[in-house]
Amino acid sequence: MTMAASRHSDARQFGAHAPEVEERLALLAEASRVLADASLEPPAVMERLCALVVPLLGAACTLRLVSDDGQWLRTVASAAATPEARRLFQTLSPPAVRADEGPSHEVLRTGEALWVPDLDPQSLREWLPPQQHGLLKDFPFTRMMVLPLRARGRSLGTLTVWKDPAEAEHTVDAGEQLLLQELADRAALALDVARAYAAEKQARQAAEVAAGRLARLQRVTAELSRVLSAERVADVIVEQGVEAVGAARGVLWVVEGDHARLLRCSGYEDPEAFQKSFGRLSLDGDHPVKDAIREARPIWVESPEAMADRYPELDVIRSQTMRAPSPASTCLPLLAEGRVLGVLLFAFTEPRVFAPDERAFLELLAHHAGQAMARARLLEQEQRARAELAEVNERLAAIIQASPASIILVDSNGTVRMWNPAAERIFGWKPEEVMGKVLPVVPTDKQGEFRRNLEKAGRGESLGGAVMRRQRKDGTPLQVALWTALVQPSGGGPEQVLSMAVDVTERHRSEAAQHFLAEAGGVLAASLEQEQTLERVAHLAVPSYAESCGVFLTDPDGTVRCVASAHEDAGLRSHDGHPAPGLVVVSRVVASNEAELRTGTSTDTPECARRPGATGVCSWLCVPLQVRGQTLGALTFATSRRDYDAQDLSLAQELARRAALAIDNARLYHEARQAIRLREEFLSIASHELKTPISALQLQVQSLMAGLARAPSGLTPERLGRALEVVDRQVKRQTQLIHELLDVSRISAGRLELSPEPLDLSAMVREVVERFEPELERTGTRLELSLAPESLGLWDKLRIDQVLTNLVSNAVKYGRGNPVHVVVTSLEDAVRVEVRDSGIGIGEEHLSRLFHRFERAVSERNYGGFGLGLWISRQIVEAMGGHITVRSELGVGSTFTVELPRPRA
Ligand code: ADP
Repeated sequence: MTMAASRHSDARQFGAHAPEVEERLALLAEASRVLADASLEPPAVMERLCALVVPLLGAACTLRLVSDDGQWLRTVASAAATPEARRLFQTLSPPAVRADEGPSHEVLRTGEALWVPDLDPQSLREWLPPQQHGLLKDFPFTRMMVLPLRARGRSLGTLTVWKDPAEAEHTVDAGEQLLLQELADRAALALDVARAYAAEKQARQAAEVAAGRLARLQRVTAELSRVLSAERVADVIVEQGVEAVGAARGVLWVVEGDHARLLRCSGYEDPEAFQKSFGRLSLDGDHPVKDAIREARPIWVESPEAMADRYPELDVIRSQTMRAPSPASTCLPLLAEGRVLGVLLFAFTEPRVFAPDERAFLELLAHHAGQAMARARLLEQEQRARAELAEVNERLAAIIQASPASIILVDSNGTVRMWNPAAERIFGWKPEEVMGKVLPVVPTDKQGEFRRNLEKAGRGESLGGAVMRRQRKDGTPLQVALWTALVQPSGGGPEQVLSMAVDVTERHRSEAAQHFLAEAGGVLAASLEQEQTLERVAHLAVPSYAESCGVFLTDPDGTVRCVASAHEDAGLRSHDGHPAPGLVVVSRVVASNEAELRTGTSTDTPECARRPGATGVCSWLCVPLQVRGQTLGALTFATSRRDYDAQDLSLAQELARRAALAIDNARLYHEARQAIRLREEFLSIASHELKTPISALQLQVQSLMAGLARAPSGLTPERLGRALEVVDRQVKRQTQLIHELLDVSRISAGRLELSPEPLDLSAMVREVVERFEPELERTGTRLELSLAPESLGLWDKLRIDQVLTNLVSNAVKYGRGNPVHVVVTSLEDAVRVEVRDSGIGIGEEHLSRLFHRFERAVSERNYGGFGLGLWISRQIVEAMGGHITVRSELGVGSTFTVELPRPRA
């Protein structure tokens, strides 16, 4: 801009039409009065100043103030003397001009007024927009004075005074300039004061706002400090927060894993619809709530445009779901220890710019809400943890109460601190008898071990099911399996040892019993020799189960014998010298088949002969040995160490069962061996026996044939007769042997058929004896008969013949030629036949088995025979309801007696 300008420190250069001195003074006085009004607002100061300047000192004036950043001079007031000029100035005055160029810059820089006598219209053009250039042709002002508005050493702006174009060549005189500067300075001062006043007022207002906010914040935080749950935090912060920040709506969501859950909302006309749309928000996607959570910073939306711009999708949803979506809102993350716990939304009814102090206030509110939320969560967690702990404790207490194992807590010195019902059950002491006292369950000889185990437990070495000996209150010994663990009392204090024990006494006992039985089974199975086996069985029970053990067997005649026994050094015996309780008890048990058990002291068990002076327990057991419904004998056990009980009894019975089986097996084995031996013997005899008659037969036939060949005439009828007699005898003998064999198989197969018919036994005897005459003659045996006159009955004739033949034949055969007596006696309802000889007799050992199959009392070398005759005879007699017996003495002779019942007529 080019202009003719000069600095006028010299006031004389101003024009002659300056106001008179009086006028000036009056003006100044007026200025002082007007500007001194302390209540003036800055705009009023400007207006007043302009009113003082125009029209007296200029045709128009413009007042400009430096902008806050010092870049601009803003037009704040103007005045013009005429309405036309006012319109012109209003139109043409730019709202602001640059402060760093043109005359104003000069004035501001120097702080001195500048007189511009002839303003170049071109320079004005530069100030104005092109569409206003047309107006400049009517613009008559070309002279102006620019004055600084000075206050406290700096220029606040400029006052431009335009001189009236009509006053041609008029210059501003010194007085006028001074007056103008004086007015400008006064105005500047007043402005400064007004500004200070305004600033002070604004500061006061800001302080009041801040104080109000503070009060509201305090109310909210005070309320928050009282609430204990996240839900209540949400209630308070939403309800009171909305009021405190002047919002229309408020919502609080809590973050739960990968989503946010709405806890509370307020101010929505349809909360349910809102809840439906925004009740659960996943954390991905575009949404101010989600952004606030994800970015952990507040999101400010100041206008609907900003919302549409930044969250277009949400904007659509909002307009669909809400009648009046809020034009401005903020989403504030609820932070605690760097974590986002939730988000708080406030929505406002008007678009708004969130000023820094308001933002700070909202953030502070959110901060307090975050803290309260964190507190509530902690509290809830703690309450939950407490409840869980209480539940765990309750459960633990129930377990301890219901535990089948004893649970005991002891101090490091063994003092009992806990004693559960199972401990009372197992050991017998009540809690009040043991609590606070040293554990009484440890036997004296185990105290050392107990202390060592406590020390070990203290070092963390626990027991894991170790079997220990303990005692009950009544002194009964116990076996327990024990587990220990070191525990730290929750309330502090020295460490304690927790022990759990299970009573394994019975288990151990039954294991031992099983073991014993298994061992016994092994021993019993090891041998089939009866004596040896029984001896071992007796020894098996001593000393683990008894001090003395006896094995008794019954003889065929019913007498009881002790066949094996075992004793400890001072084993218990009965008065009869047998293992206790002695023969009387054993016989009783064998007879009754009932086991007997006695417990108590010696007085209760007089059966036992004790050492002199011995006192205390004496207990015995006697169990029958039974097998296949037969009682073979009995086993006895006696001890002075403890009382036998039901378990011992059943163990003894089990052992007896097995022993009886073993004895039976041994017997059967023995019999089987005997039977095999007899069968083999029989086979050799049978072949010999069958061969002998054939050889004799063959001899006779051969000699007859040889005689016939040599000299047929030499075969006299006598010789032929003798030979044929031999042949006949041998054939008969052969036939008899074969019959015997056939009988055996018939009888064995149960096919012995009887055909009873009226029979006189004496006549029958006579008939049989007659048949023996050649034999008697041959052996030189005398036979004497003593026959009852009346001996009738109903019997099978052929079979009776067979029995009598066998008995007479044996008497002749084994009679050594001595006389044989056959006596038939008639009894009341039976007939008796006795066949008596004075021959070789039979050894006692053979007598019992004489009537068994293949049994022979003599060697086959001396006497032939199958050893079947007596067996067959017995089968026949017994089939007829009678019986056959023998009395014999070796070397003296034998008497066989048959008694046959006579059916009553
Ligand atoms: P055997 O055919 O062997 O005679 P038995 O069954 O009739 O068969 O007799 C069995 C055994 O009894 C005979 O082997 C014998 O040892 C003995 N015995 C039978 N009768 C007499 C008797 N009268 N005197 C002596 N021993 C006899």
